[in-house]
Amino acid sequence: MHIQLLMTGSELMRGTTTDTNSVRIADALATLGLAIQRKVTIGDDLALLVRELQAISREADVLIVNGGLGPTSDDLTADALAQAAGDTLAENADALAHLQQWCGERKIALNAANRKQAMLPSTAFLVPNPVGSAVGFGLRLNNCLVLCTPGVPRELEGILADSIVPQLAREFAGCEQQIILRLHLFGIGESQAQDMIDKAIPAWPDGVVLGFRAGMPTVEVKLLVRKSAAAAAQPLFAQLKTILADYIVAEGEQNLQAALLDLLAAQGKTLACAESCTGGLISSMLTEIPGSSRAFTAGFITYSNAMKSGMLGVSEQTLADHGAVSEPVVREMVCGALARSEADIAVAVSGVAGPDGGTADKPVGTVWLAWGTSAHIHARRFQLGGPRKRCQQLTAAIALDLVRRTALGDDQEPPYFARWAV
Ligand code: AMP
Ligand code: MG
Repeated sequence: MHIQLLMTGSELMRGTTTDTNSVRIADALATLGLAIQRKVTIGDDLALLVRELQAISREADVLIVNGGLGPTSDDLTADALAQAAGDTLAENADALAHLQQWCGERKIALNAANRKQAMLPSTAFLVPNPVGSAVGFGLRLNNCLVLCTPGVPRELEGILADSIVPQLAREFAGCEQQIILRLHLFGIGESQAQDMIDKAIPAWPDGVVLGFRAGMPTVEVKLLVRKSAAAAAQPLFAQLKTILADYIVAEGEQNLQAALLDLLAAQGKTLACAESCTGGLISSMLTEIPGSSRAFTAGFITYSNAMKSGMLGVSEQTLADHGAVSEPVVREMVCGALARSEADIAVAVSGVAGPDGGTADKPVGTVWLAWGTSAHIHARRFQLGGPRKRCQQLTAAIALDLVRRTALGDDQEPPYFARWAV
């Protein structure tokens, strides 16, 4: 099955918008075992759009077009598709009804610009948009199924899940589907993971493909498995888990913090954090997960020394003697967080995220972490590299992983201490 993408928008060509939509589309198609052969990006240029639509529709079985469905004059997709198909634009009654309902729900009048979004190629069928004003639409051109989707990422996500994936699943009902088995690793790079896997599993059976995605702070390792190879893949996935056990922080659709919250909730334990250099990032990562209140009780963002004392009871003397980025201070921060939140586990961070503020004995990237329970508190100094944001992301991930290890009763030093702890 030959599938191509046509990403449109001058903002993509100028570099003001990063093309994340093609990644979303590829991800959605991968769930059906469908791969994209070719991806073309062009600006809002009518003649170029018409030319590409005609050329690609002669090669591909399916063409997914993204962007240019909006109400403004640079939104040209409907016009271009009509011209490419030798069709004319006509007001589509269903699209108009959708727009009227959409405006009605928002108590806004349907203006001429909105009304333009109902002008579609006369032979087009609608691809319902559950989220936004612009409907998707499609038609068959040169025996190719052309599907036009909105550029706004949230609207694209809605239309992919509600309309495109089910439609393509029907279209390609005979095609073999694919499953994806994922592991999320922390504290290891892609190359090291690849190396460890290659040594243990030098070859993969037909229908099983190993893939990686380097993210920040985690690395994703996945097996792309044809349904017919599912039985063969299971023991290999189990073997992967054994090989990478020291680094696995989550599985499947979960991430580090979601897996941690599930673990804590299953144990009936609660977590609090005391943050200085991460400025609330750890709390934000936790609370972005629905239902985080099952296990997360409090995040103290104590940026100034006065607030470290006022909110967490860190002694002014300790701060004066050792400075805010020090073992005694993070220990007192974690004790204060445990006492004031009554959480079972707490973690505290204080560091120099940079780019300024470093000194000879506490250079940029110096971070002190303390974590544990009222029974036992650990503390460790880290030296993290990279710019400010990366330092904060890494600190937050280490903090969450150390809480995870505490909840699991794992007293071993994590392997990444060799890299980052001092
Ligand atoms: P459009 O449907 O072309 O009017 O796009 C609406 C908005 O969606 C644009 O202003 C961008 O902010 C966003 N957008 C368009 N294309 C993409 C893309 N490929 N990836 C991410 N965002 C996009
Ligand atoms: Mg656009």
